[in-house]
Amino acid sequence: MRLIMLGAPGTGKGTQGKILSAYYGIPNISTGDILRSAIEKGTELGQQAEQYMDKGELVPDGLMIGLIEERLLDDDCKNGFILDGFPRTVKQAIALDRHCQQNKNCVDFVIGLELDENKIVKRLTSRRVCRTCGKDYNLVTNPPPSDNKCVVCGGEIVQRADDTEATVRNRLKVYHEKTKPLQEYYQKKGKLKIFNSDGKIDEIQREIRVFLDEVKN
Ligand code: AMP
Repeated sequence: MRLIMLGAPGTGKGTQGKILSAYYGIPNISTGDILRSAIEKGTELGQQAEQYMDKGELVPDGLMIGLIEERLLDDDCKNGFILDGFPRTVKQAIALDRHCQQNKNCVDFVIGLELDENKIVKRLTSRRVCRTCGKDYNLVTNPPPSDNKCVVCGGEIVQRADDTEATVRNRLKVYHEKTKPLQEYYQKKGKLKIFNSDGKIDEIQREIRVFLDEVKN
């Protein structure tokens, strides 16, 4: 099973991707998580990416394509993978197609997630995450404990630098300009299935799995 999670920030790509990843036993590869970890560690990649991420801009294609091509050659991708946050531009999608054709591991399906923009802004500005393990919290629906320590690993719970309202609005603008065209790109290949992500996490997960069970054989 090789999947792409496609959608605007805040539509639940990471949440749904991680559950699918555990269910199918394949890695969920989040380019955002890889970049945040690089920033945290102070690597060269992190230093290059930080200036773009803080403004809600995309990190240059060249950097992202190299990073994902390398990651997809890892052993744990042999039986499949879930891409969360890649591709984000048509150039990245074309590079991914080329790489996958060469390595005979082409993407099977693209799971598109859609949600009303006002709800996205509300979701993202109230999102909090564990600095250490990345677990998600939400001030409204799933508030962090009063000591602000992650229930999974005890790490500090923080707001992502790019989850402030102004940056979220820019990320949405960038999504519409650069990433939304990928819906048409994958539609033409007959690989796209769109789900409404305004609902309970479990229910959306169930709908995705019903679809995948139907089409995968
Ligand atoms: P995410 O965690 O997926 O919301 O990504 C956070 C930020 O990382 C984005 O706003 C971009 O700045 C950067 N990023 C993640 N994936 C990509 C990508 N495929 N291409 C360019 N920038 C990316």
